[in-house]
Amino acid sequence: MTRSDGTGAGEAHGGSAPGARPATSAPAAVRGGGGPASFHAMWDELRPIGRHADSGGYRRFAWTGADADCRAWFRAQAESRGLAYEVDRNGNQWAWLGDPLAGDAVVTGSHLDSVPDGGAFDGPLGVVSSFAALDELRARGAALTPLTRPLAITNFGDEEGARFGLACVGSRLAAGQLTKEKAYELRDADGTTLPQAMERAGYDPDAIGADPERLARIGAFVELHVEQGRALDLSGDRVGIASAIWPHGRWRFDFHGEANHAGTTRLVDRRDPMLTYAATVLAARQEAALAGAVATFGKIAVEPNGVNAIPSLVRGWLDSRAADQATLDTVVTAVEKAAREQAGRDGIDLDVVRESFTPVVEFEHALRDELNRILGGAVPVLGTGAGHDAGILSAAVPTAMLFVRNPTGVSHSPREFAAEDDCTAGVLALADVLEGLACR
Ligand SMILES: [Zn+2]
Repeated sequence: MTRSDGTGAGEAHGGSAPGARPATSAPAAVRGGGGPASFHAMWDELRPIGRHADSGGYRRFAWTGADADCRAWFRAQAESRGLAYEVDRNGNQWAWLGDPLAGDAVVTGSHLDSVPDGGAFDGPLGVVSSFAALDELRARGAALTPLTRPLAITNFGDEEGARFGLACVGSRLAAGQLTKEKAYELRDADGTTLPQAMERAGYDPDAIGADPERLARIGAFVELHVEQGRALDLSGDRVGIASAIWPHGRWRFDFHGEANHAGTTRLVDRRDPMLTYAATVLAARQEAALAGAVATFGKIAVEPNGVNAIPSLVRGWLDSRAADQATLDTVVTAVEKAAREQAGRDGIDLDVVRESFTPVVEFEHALRDELNRILGGAVPVLGTGAGHDAGILSAAVPTAMLFVRNPTGVSHSPREFAAEDDCTAGVLALADVLEGLACR
């Protein structure tokens, strides 16, 4: 896999990349005092880290140099505000205001890692907005009742799963949804295991595992995130509240054929797994459309991967999501059935393995209603097909999410975007939520 060590670390310490500010960056105009002002300063600091010069996208993969630079940035933000900084047993970062051991803490935050050539907002918007919301609370100063609950900001490690193929590793480990044994089996494309990568980054992989005592000290977790669709753009709102995360999973389809010469093998003599794979991609699209779901083959590996060779193996990964479990089951079952029927016709052997699955997440209604009340009661409530650390934690902790408008709906791409005024609205909404939850 492409490593970000070179570009990430180099850019982080080398100042701004040459040329104009990219379209995906929030404008640097500073507004008033408090959180919105500090937001832009932080955004500009974080912006060059792990940004690839050619694509303009981010390559902030777990336990690489770019990841280390993001983590150093987080730590500096915590310490510059006098927050108590700590790293938990799974490598997630925490910055505390108040006593971490007191319990019933209000926690906010998100993640700083990215997908390959991802956008600037997915993850970092939540972390930067968290620090800015704290600054906003402090700027409100004397008007505030003192904190009645501890407050923490967190950066969950390896949320995107770009390097080891499993999303939300930091929160899954903490919540006990990923065991140490299973985590130790994770490997990146270069064959480096997760424990090796952690150790090289200076963390202790021996310590990883479920952290129920820590989660028990959290009374509410609120994750702010850029919207990864256009619901807010269509409704004309800057900020929304999450209702649920669609159930979703990843399935690996291995199509085994027979390698042979692309020039001398007659068409009728071939066992070409690429044909079966191609038919399966079309079936996935058709079944998803019929069901009102989504299904994507976005990653493929081919052996021997030669221009003049019929493949012996095509391995494709299906990502599918739907509003409910029954619909998702229907789609994936139909795709597999179509693949098997086509494989039979093509003389191909097919293995299908479910690599990961996350059931539907309904965010806690009481906390969701509380956020809506704090924000004036007119905030749209929307579902999402994207997974989040908040979804993982919701099994153990009262959890809610705020979404900030993304006018194009594009995400996991350098075109991902949120406008300055919408980022400001997100910071102020998060500050209101933190004040409402932790100062009363
Ligand atoms: Zn994210």
